[in-house]
Amino acid sequence: MKNPTCIFCKIIAKEVPAQIIAETNDILVINDIAPKAPIHYLIIPKNHIADVKSLQDTDVELAGKMLLMAKQLSQVLPEPRAFKLVMNNGAAVGQSVFHIHCHFLAGKQMTDF
Ligand code: 5GP
Ligand code: ZN
Repeated sequence: MKNPTCIFCKIIAKEVPAQIIAETNDILVINDIAPKAPIHYLIIPKNHIADVKSLQDTDVELAGKMLLMAKQLSQVLPEPRAFKLVMNNGAAVGQSVFHIHCHFLAGKQMTDF
């Protein structure tokens, strides 16, 4: 499933280093290299899928696993365990890496988009 030009595929293959927060058979969680909040993780499925628009019906389990990973990551946050999930889809809204991922943000006020 590896795309040779994709930075996240290279990180998943351990060809490019990253700070790994969690790893399962299907998902890698890393620290964002340019954090926008005190806690800024990237939840990245290991399959190279460009974005949410590219998901297939057969990806339903993978999509669910991304949310359950967010739940697992939230368990170490201080109460009230507040966090924000962001998925950019398309360069027009800020997507810069075209390998599906979910931003997990916490540790500061983020009441406006
Ligand atoms: P997007 O803009 O596509 O929603 O999010 C891509 C994110 O990947 C950005 O927040 C950017 O800082 C992060 N990023 C880009 N290249 C790397 C990298 O080589 N390592 C890590 N850890 N994060 C990266
Ligand atoms: Zn990729």
